[in-house]
This record gives sequence, structure tokens and C-alpha cells, in this order.
Amino acid sequence: MNQSFKGFVLLAAFLTFAPQALPWDRSENLNGLPPRINVRVHNYAQVPTEILAPAEAAAADILGKAGVQITWTRCDPARADHDEAAGCNQLLGPTNLGVRILPQFGVIPGTTRRTMGFAAGHLASVSMRRVQEEAAECGVKPYEVLGPAIAHEIGHLLLGQQGHSHTGIMRARWRREDYGTAPLGAFKFTAQQAEQMRAEVGRRVQEQGATEVATMTATK
Ligand SMILES: [Zn+2]
Repeated sequence: MNQSFKGFVLLAAFLTFAPQALPWDRSENLNGLPPRINVRVHNYAQVPTEILAPAEAAAADILGKAGVQITWTRCDPARADHDEAAGCNQLLGPTNLGVRILPQFGVIPGTTRRTMGFAAGHLASVSMRRVQEEAAECGVKPYEVLGPAIAHEIGHLLLGQQGHSHTGIMRARWRREDYGTAPLGAFKFTAQQAEQMRAEVGRRVQEQGATEVATMTATK
């Protein structure tokens, strides 16, 4: 085999292989759709829609840029039909995450007065008091803090507790100048985190699909 023929074979092999999904690339699920996860927002702090809607949009934008699509369900504990509201009283799970927006944390082990959020299992919590404080300190609107805070905590749910990094949205602390950066520049997931989250969501969606098929078969 001469060199140019070898080169042709290698190139042909690469061209055949490249467009297919690599074992570690689960950026699309079986239906060829981008990874999507459900997130229920339990608005215990009664944050008005004028703040919550743009905050959800900002969080969706941050996660969307990392290749993770979110379907939000708004759950308002103050509403009489809360329990009946679509999916609000279903169990949380790998593809059904929850975000609680609490007025404040009070005495919760592992948190301090400066803690803005924490995440465990399938549930993340954000302190609205800390969001308001940070917004006032940094001279920005509350949704500009709440959106990245929600995205950061969802990041923890998908990346695990070791999810803090030195750059981007998963830093343990943010600075005033982060909010002035061109559209959410300081609040991005790193390429590595984005890849890890897409793979994680893809894995969870496939697992969920397998569980649903097994349940349907069992109940037939
Ligand atoms: Zn964190």
C-alpha cells in the first residue's frame, strides 16, 4: 500500500466515522433531539412574575447555550389548585428536577448568611433574600442574579457536588463586574461542563425511557 493510498483509506475511514455519534457524544437523544429536562419551580418566596419570568428565561438561555434545553413548570404553593397544577405534586426524579425559591434559608446546616443556593439529590434551593442583597450590592435587577443562580444550582444537580470551577457560572463566588459582562459572558458553563451535562441528561433521558417501557410492559 503506497502512502497516498494509505492516506486515502484513513481519510475515508475518518469521513465515514466522524458524522456518527461517538460513544461519549450523547449531545442528542435517540430521537435526534437536543437533551431536554423538566424543571419545576416552586415559588415559595412568591417572587412576582415580572422577576421570575425573565429569571427563568436567563437560566434557560445559559443552559441552552450549553446544549441543555429546559421545560419549566411553574408551581405556586399559594395557589389553591397547586396540587392539581400540571405535575407539581409528582415525585422528583432524574429527569424531573425541582428548584425551590425560598424567602430565606434560616438555619439550614451547611449554609451561612451569604449562601445563595444549594442543591441535593434532584432538588435545588435558592434564597431570595440573598438574591435581593446581591442585586442591591451589584446595582443590578433581581432577575439578573436569580437567573444565573437557578442555572448554577441546576448545574450542581447535573454535574454533582464537585461542580465548582475557577471560571464561568460554576464559580463558588461571583463578582460585581460579572454582571456587566456582555450577554451573560461571565455566566457560561465551560465547554467541558457543557459536554458533561449533555451526556448526563442524555443518559437520564434514555434511562427514563427504558423505565417507562419496562413499566408499560409490566402493567399490560
Ligand atoms: Zn455552587
